[in-house]
Amino acid sequence: MNAQFDAIIIGAGPAGTATAIGLAKQGRSVAIIERSAFPRRKVCGEFTSAVNVDLLERLGVGAEFRRQAGPEVRRVALFAAGNTVEAPMPPGQGTAFGRALGRDVLDSLLLDAARDEGATVFQPWRATDIVRGVERSSVTIESPTEQLQLEASVMVAAHGSWEPGKLKTNLAKINRPHDFLGFKAHFHGGRLPPDLMPLIAFPGGYGGMVWADHDRLSLSFCMRRDALARARLASPNSSAADATYNHILGSCPDVADVLRGAELAGPWVAAGPIRPGIRSAFENDVFRVGNIAGESHPIIAEGIAMALQSGWILAAQLGKHEHWDIDARAAAGQAYRSAWRNQFATRIRLAAILSGVAASSNGAKLMQAFIGRFPVSLSLGAALSGKTKPVPALV
Ligand SMILES: Cc1cc2nc3c(=O)[nH]c(=O)nc-3n(C[C@H](O)[C@H](O)[C@H](O)COP(=O)(O)OP(=O)(O)OC[C@H]3O[C@@H](n4cnc5c(N)ncnc54)[C@H](O)[C@@H]3O)c2cc1C
Repeated sequence: MNAQFDAIIIGAGPAGTATAIGLAKQGRSVAIIERSAFPRRKVCGEFTSAVNVDLLERLGVGAEFRRQAGPEVRRVALFAAGNTVEAPMPPGQGTAFGRALGRDVLDSLLLDAARDEGATVFQPWRATDIVRGVERSSVTIESPTEQLQLEASVMVAAHGSWEPGKLKTNLAKINRPHDFLGFKAHFHGGRLPPDLMPLIAFPGGYGGMVWADHDRLSLSFCMRRDALARARLASPNSSAADATYNHILGSCPDVADVLRGAELAGPWVAAGPIRPGIRSAFENDVFRVGNIAGESHPIIAEGIAMALQSGWILAAQLGKHEHWDIDARAAAGQAYRSAWRNQFATRIRLAAILSGVAASSNGAKLMQAFIGRFPVSLSLGAALSGKTKPVPALV
């Protein structure tokens, strides 16, 4: 007989683990499937805004987050071609400020918390097929040597949006000049002030820098595919990441200044193209959380928050129904879809506008001129991007 669960969650990024922990806390039997072995590095700036501090506590990783994360980020800045512009970061609840924790650390902590709550973890196993049924659905999972079938009434796609795959919930491949590719590296020894998180704007892309755990300076950025091709012509024999990095150092003197003498801590990681936009949080009887439901351009550094919060909100909506028959799933799906839009749609739209301006040929200069005149717009942008918006199922 196939292994039976109440819910099966595909993907153990922050969205999948938050859902798993939320459902397991209700006493549901949960399977979570993750194709990579942890700890694994991930393209991500690794900043989590202050409004998530209480949620991390509820998820059981609050103490470790506080112990390990980098310093509180109290100021935001714009690093572009000219002078630096700075503004205060708006605090979350009380006086809490956001901090950065490496995804190799955070994702492992969350998956351990899901396991501690009773979730069954299949890792490293890849989900390769979902077959929907009226009462229960089945998922095929594969390891390098075995294949298994799991069954559950609730199916949750939490597998992110950047990797191609065989699942019906995977996005179709794209290859367009204006797609953005993501890169990330850690450095030791940079000279960024501990409480400052600069937004970096350069022709063809944007990025960010922040101090994370273990004195690691996290640098991450997105670059348009066509701009990357031009950068590679200017840096022949370099990797895509190195070519973009050289392009940023040449375009943003402040970045070059902060990283002078810093040493790479581990290799660059790359991903993409990223898939910003609003998709569907519930479709064909499959719930979607995190990036696969919808994704903001990382210029606002809100993807981890959206992943954690969407998982938590979904678990709260499902928790309103004792039995998950098809009607209960449809009702929970509708309520979740509307809560999702209410919580995330504005920031996704704002991030799309900001990224379009930042990456345009004159965008960095325009942003610098505008923010230089109105530095408060940096703080306002941080607030509009959701950094102070409470998590509904916690209030
Ligand atoms: C350059 C850059 C910088 C960023 N900076 C920040 C930042 O500072 N702060 C922030 O909040 N966000 C940031 N983000 C966004 C953030 O990284 C994502 O939004 C976040 O990782 C989404 O989480 P998720 O759980 O939805 O998906 P993911 O984190 O992508 O997790 C999905 C998981 O599913 C697994 N998986 C995939 N397919 C399968 C399968 N078939 N079977 C089993 N497992 C599977 C994957 O291995 C993965 O572990 C950044 C993004 C980029 C590109």
